[in-house]
Amino acid sequence: MSATDLSAQLLALGIPLHADPAVTLTDWRKRYQGTARAVASPGSTDEVARLVSHCARERIPIVPQGGNTGLVGGGTPDDSGEAVLLSLARMNRIRAIDTENDTITVEAGCVLANVQQAAREAGRLFPLSLAAEGSCTIGGNLSTNAGGVQVLRYGNARDLCLGLEVVTAQGEVWDGLRGLRKDNTGYDLRDLFIGAEGTLGVITAATLKLFPLPAAQLTAFAAVPDVESAVALLNLAKRRLGSSLTAFELISEFCLTLVDQHFPQSRRPLASASPYYVLMESSDSESAEHAQALFEALLGEAIESGLVTDAAVAASIAQSKAFWALRENIPLAQAMEGKNIKHDIGVPISSIAEYVAQTNAALAAAVPGIRMVVFGHLGDGNLHYNVSPAVGADDDVFMANEPQVNQIVYEAVARHQGSISAEHGLGQLKRNENVHYKSAIELRLMRAIKQALDPLDLMNPGKVLPDSP
Ligand SMILES: Cc1cc2nc3c(=O)[nH]c(=O)nc-3n(C[C@H](O)[C@H](O)[C@H](O)COP(=O)(O)OP(=O)(O)OC[C@H]3O[C@@H](n4cnc5c(N)ncnc54)[C@H](O)[C@@H]3O)c2cc1C
Repeated sequence: MSATDLSAQLLALGIPLHADPAVTLTDWRKRYQGTARAVASPGSTDEVARLVSHCARERIPIVPQGGNTGLVGGGTPDDSGEAVLLSLARMNRIRAIDTENDTITVEAGCVLANVQQAAREAGRLFPLSLAAEGSCTIGGNLSTNAGGVQVLRYGNARDLCLGLEVVTAQGEVWDGLRGLRKDNTGYDLRDLFIGAEGTLGVITAATLKLFPLPAAQLTAFAAVPDVESAVALLNLAKRRLGSSLTAFELISEFCLTLVDQHFPQSRRPLASASPYYVLMESSDSESAEHAQALFEALLGEAIESGLVTDAAVAASIAQSKAFWALRENIPLAQAMEGKNIKHDIGVPISSIAEYVAQTNAALAAAVPGIRMVVFGHLGDGNLHYNVSPAVGADDDVFMANEPQVNQIVYEAVARHQGSISAEHGLGQLKRNENVHYKSAIELRLMRAIKQALDPLDLMNPGKVLPDSP
């Protein structure tokens, strides 16, 4: 069937096509360029169900896509031109807010920032927060089990979701939009679809948890001499601030250098450079004065014990935003600097300092001159452990080192009982890598789930699961 035939069939089924298909066929990092028979842009669950039923009958693969901010090529079709790209972007309605149950029910294509805003307008907090929040969608967040900067306090996207509406690989609609915090009635189907990266079905809506808005939020930027001190500061902050500690991010000096260079309007909060910095946030349920007193006592104690060498507390919302912009602009600054090898690793917090020291040394020995871009969610044991080429090195020559660099990074992760993908998922980028780090039984169970839910392998084929042995 030609692309024109399929597009005509979809239009005959009442399923709108995307106005400009070209924009959605390249991934955010521009690593993958796909082609598709058609780009469908349904506006309702019923339209998604009709599309999926049609594709199941005709044996046409489907690649779901939300905001296309994923970093592992999960939302990009392959270049065979066989698949239909299913954009959820038009399914962007807030269906309901229940402030007594503290839940919000939204369609999958809702942009994360719009969900946060709707919650705020209802006097509630939806705490999922990440640098891509102006473009990424709830469907994509749930499908990748996104983390972000407040996991420490509120958990991953999975922890924030109470119910799902899903169109199955057969085109049936499963209405699991329950706003229940307790439900022990068998296998948890919701948890199967969360983090499945579109390989088991299409998420069309979700019921999400809401929280009280904090009375005050404070942000601090602290210089620390090394990763060990950052971990010790994390533990001290947990003891002193308790559940008020909502974010704890590590930033290396080289990350800030990149931001200085590519975002010249940025201003560093501290006068002198330090090997590492911590960006810390507290969300207080009492008052600004209470938050301030706790924060100042914590930083005073940390400076006295040598964990922190200098610190600044944001004096206004604008200053807090400027601190956060330093952190959020790191991925963009690194992309502007040129090609790089990205990792999104998780190791137990107690091993993170040793992991960084040992792996930095092993990489420096293997590829002399490389520059380590180390930052991320230290409070969750999750680092963006990225590698940029030596100054003046040819990008393509450097990228030829990727397999060797990945092996060093992932073998070290395995030695520390970690994860090769703590946040971004596997997509196309890491699915075959995963075969070395999952046990045979885990892979067998994952394949069994895929076979049970999508026996024709039409839902986002070539993603998540490794090639068959
Ligand atoms: C600057 C930047 C910062 C980032 N920071 C973070 C971070 O801190 N934490 C983090 O976890 N991630 C982060 N990411 C990665 C990315 O933003 C998240 O993975 C996000 O959750 C993806 O959402 P999306 O709507 O863009 O999904 P897409 O990129 O469109 O899709 C991602 C995957 O989900 C599938 N999918 C999308 N929608 C659906 C649906 N409705 N049903 C079934 N499958 C679907 C796709 O097929 C694909 O496999 C960042 C990305 C960028 C560019």
